[in-house]
Amino acid sequence: MTNHIGTTCVQGGYHPGDAEPRQIPIYQSTTWKYDTSEHMGKLFDLEESGYFYTRLQNPTNDYVAAKICELEGGSAAMLTSSGQAANFFAIFNIAGAGDHVVASSAIYGGTYNLLAHTMQRMGLECTFVSPDCTPEELEAAFQPNTKAVFGETIANPALAVLDIERFAQAAHAHGVPLIVDNTFPTPVMCRPIEWGADIVTHSTTKYMDGHGAAVGGAIVDSGNFDWMAHAETFPGLTTPDESYHGVVYAEKFGQGGAFITKATAQLMRDLGSIQSPQNAFLLNMGLESLHVRMRQHCANGQAMAEFLASHPKVRFVRYPGLPGDPYHELAQKYLPNGSCGVVSFGFTGGRPAAEEFMKNLKIAQIATHVADARTCVLHPANATHRQMNDAELEAAGVAPDMVRLSCGIEDTDDLIADVAQALDKA
Ligand SMILES: *Cc1c(COP(=O)(O)O)cnc(C)c1O
Repeated sequence: MTNHIGTTCVQGGYHPGDAEPRQIPIYQSTTWKYDTSEHMGKLFDLEESGYFYTRLQNPTNDYVAAKICELEGGSAAMLTSSGQAANFFAIFNIAGAGDHVVASSAIYGGTYNLLAHTMQRMGLECTFVSPDCTPEELEAAFQPNTKAVFGETIANPALAVLDIERFAQAAHAHGVPLIVDNTFPTPVMCRPIEWGADIVTHSTTKYMDGHGAAVGGAIVDSGNFDWMAHAETFPGLTTPDESYHGVVYAEKFGQGGAFITKATAQLMRDLGSIQSPQNAFLLNMGLESLHVRMRQHCANGQAMAEFLASHPKVRFVRYPGLPGDPYHELAQKYLPNGSCGVVSFGFTGGRPAAEEFMKNLKIAQIATHVADARTCVLHPANATHRQMNDAELEAAGVAPDMVRLSCGIEDTDDLIADVAQALDKA
C-alpha cells in the first residue's frame, strides 16, 4: 500500500512501536553513552550505525529527514542548519577546488552569492545560464571539470520555472547529477526526482516549517545517480576516504546511501551546520500540515494573481499559474495542481505607488521572509536591493516598482480586500 502525500506529511518518517511516544521525541543530548570503547570504535569506523555526537547525527533530525525523504521519493536524506548549508553541502559533497558547476541564473540571491563568490574563493568555478537558454547555450556551459548542474524548481524571487527534464538530460549526458532546490513548490506540488533530478535540497525555513519559527535545510538523495559508473568524476565517493580507514562510500553504502553518508560523516563532522533537534521538532509540526497549507497558499496565490491582473493600477503581474505568464506552460507540466503562494507585481504609478501601497496594507505585513502562513510583502528596491539605483535595478531584473507578495493561508477574500484597499490609496 502506497500512501498519498498528505498521509506521509502527517505520519511519515516516525513509526512508534508499542507504548512509545506518539509525537517525535526531542533528543536534547549532545552525546550518547556506550558500554565498551570497542563498540564506540565500530561507530567511528562506520562499521556500525549509531549515534554518538549531535554535530553529526541526532535521532530527532533523522525521523524528520526520513519524512522529507519519503515526501520527495528519495533513498536517503539529512537535515542541515539552514537552506544555505543544504545547498553548500549538496554541491561541496561532490565538487571542490579545481571543479566547476553549471547553475541556473534564476536562483535565490543567497545561493547566487554562495556560488559566484564564496565557493569561487574555495576554487570552485560556476557558469550561470538562463533557465530559458537554448540547448546550444546549455551545452556550451559544460566543461571537462563540471561536477553538477544546479537550479530551483520555482526561482525565488524571479518565479521562473525550471525545465527539470531538460536540465536533467543535459546533466546526465555529461555524466553529472542535477541538484534541484525545491523550496517553493515543496514535494506537495512537485517532486523533482520524478522528472530526473538526482539530489533535491530545501530551505525548510519556508513552507515546510511554514510558521516562521525555525531556520533549517534538508538534502534528499534520489539514489538514482550511479557514482561508480562515473568513478573518475567523483573520487570522493568512489575511492577510499582515509579519514575513515579507507571506506569507499559508493561501495559500502551503495548507490542509495553513499551521498548522504559521505555528507554526514565527512562534511557534518568537519563543518558542523546540523539542525538543532528542537528546530527539527518544530519543522515536523509544520510538515504535518504542509499538504493542507500548500493548497491554501496556492489558491490564494492564484486568486491574488488573477485579481491583480485585472486591476487598472497594476502594471504587470508575475505568477506561474497565470495564463500568459512566461512560465505558464512549464508550470502546467511540472506544477499541475498549483505552484506556490508568491506573486510579484508592479504599479502603473511606479515606485511611489509601490511605497504608498506598502504603507496601507493591514493584513499583509512587511517582512524579508516568504512562504509563511501569514501573508508577507517585500519591496525589494527598498530592502534586499536597496543599494541599487533604478538603472541598476532594471539591469538586475528587479523593477523599481516591483513588490513581492507572499500569500499566506488567511481567507482569500480578506487578502484580496486588503490589497484592494491599499491599491485604492496607491
Ligand atoms: C530562503 C532560500 C534559501 C536559503 O535558505 P535559508 O534557510 O534562509 O538559509 C535557499 N533557497 C531558496 C529557494 C530559498 O528561498
